[in-house]
Amino acid sequence: MGELLGLRCLTCGRDYDAWSVDYFCPHCGPVAGALTVEYEYRVLARRLGPASFADTRRNSLWRYDSLLPVSGEYAVPLRAGGTPIYDCPTLAKELGLGRLWVKDESQHPTASCKDRGTAVAVAAARMLEREAVCCASTGNAATSLAGFAAAAGFPCFIFVPKNAPRAKIAQLLAFGATVFAVDGTYDQASSLALRAAEKFGWYNRSDGLNPMVVEGNKTAALEVWEELHGEVPDFALVAVGDGSVIGGICKGFLELGKVGLSGKVPKVYGVQAQGAAAVAHAFARFQDGRPILPAEERAETLADSIRVGKPMDALRAVRAVAETGGGYVTVSDEEIVAGAQELARRVGVFAEPSGAAPFAGLLRLLREGTVPEGARVVLFITGSGLKDPEGALRGLPEPTVIPPQLEAVDEVLGER
Ligand SMILES: [Zn+2]
Repeated sequence: MGELLGLRCLTCGRDYDAWSVDYFCPHCGPVAGALTVEYEYRVLARRLGPASFADTRRNSLWRYDSLLPVSGEYAVPLRAGGTPIYDCPTLAKELGLGRLWVKDESQHPTASCKDRGTAVAVAAARMLEREAVCCASTGNAATSLAGFAAAAGFPCFIFVPKNAPRAKIAQLLAFGATVFAVDGTYDQASSLALRAAEKFGWYNRSDGLNPMVVEGNKTAALEVWEELHGEVPDFALVAVGDGSVIGGICKGFLELGKVGLSGKVPKVYGVQAQGAAAVAHAFARFQDGRPILPAEERAETLADSIRVGKPMDALRAVRAVAETGGGYVTVSDEEIVAGAQELARRVGVFAEPSGAAPFAGLLRLLREGTVPEGARVVLFITGSGLKDPEGALRGLPEPTVIPPQLEAVDEVLGER
C-alpha cells in the first residue's frame, strides 16, 4: 500500500484525510469538487527504484500497490491490469512513425479498461466494509463493476441508458447485477445513480465521482513505462467519455516523474467523437482562459462508450492533459469506423468503435502535423469489439452464402 497522504479538491484545493470523504469535496459539490488522491511523493521517491516492481510476480495492477491507496490484500481474485502491449513496426513505418505500440486494454476479464478502476474501487469497498456497490455507466464501467461485484459477493446495482449495446446488457445480467435500464441519456442515468446511492447507502463506482477509479486507471501508464523498460513514448492517445480514464493515464505518467522513475512525460491526447466532444470543447475554453466546466452538450455518436454530453470528470481530464503538454482531437464517426477496421486488419486487435477512436485520432494528428514524423506513439485500446458487434459490422460486407460444394468456393475466389 502506498504512502497515502489524503484527498485534494481539484477546484478549491482543500485537503481531506484519506477515507474521510468518499466522492467529492463537500464544499464544491459533485463534478466541480472532484478529488485527487495525493501521496507522500518524496518518501516514495526515496523508496522506489527502476526495479521496484520487478520483484513481484503478480501479473496485475496490484504489482504497483506501493502507488495505490488500497492494499492488494483487499483485491478480489479477478485480474485487472497486466494487459499486452503490441509493437507494430510495419504500420509505424507506413505512417512515418518511429515506433507504434498498441496497448490492448480489451484483454481484461470484462473486456474493457474499466476493470482497472473497478478493481481498486471494489477493493476500497471491501476495506471500508461497504455492503453493496452501484454505478452509472454507458456500459463498460457497469459490466466491469458487475463482474468484480460478483467476484466479491457484493449486491450490485447498475444504471445504464436503455439503448446500451445488447452484449453489455448480457454481461450485466449474466453477472447477476440488478439492472436499471434508464429511459433517458447516460447523463440522466448518472445523476439518478448518485441520488439512489445516497438514499440506499451503496458504494458508488461511477466515473468522475469516485477518486479510487482514477487510481486504478493510472496503472495503465505504469505498465507502459515498465513494458518499455523504463521509458515512455512521445505521445499517448486514448478515447475520452467522462474523462476518468485519461485523467488516470495522465496521473500515472506524471506520478512516475514525481517519484523520480521517469524524466519525461508523454504528451497525452484525448480523442472524442465530433458529435460528443464536451471535454474537447472544455479544453479549448481552458486554453482561452475561460472556465472549464461545461453545460450539458448534445452527445451523438455511434461510439456508445464515449457518448457523454455532461462529462463527470471534465475538470480532471482537461487539467491533466494540459499538464502533460497534450491536447484533444475530435474525429467523425466515419473516421472511427474506418479506424476500427484498419486496426483489426493491420494489428489483429478487435476494438469497439470508441476503443478504436485513438487510431482515428492518430491519423488526424499526423495529417495536422501535431504528431511529427519519427514520433514514438502508444494507443490505448479501451474496449473489445465483441462488446458491440453491430457497431463493428457497420460498413462491412455480408459474407457470401454458398452451397456446401467446392465448385462454389472456386466460383467465389474467381470473382475476387
Ligand atoms: Zn472544493
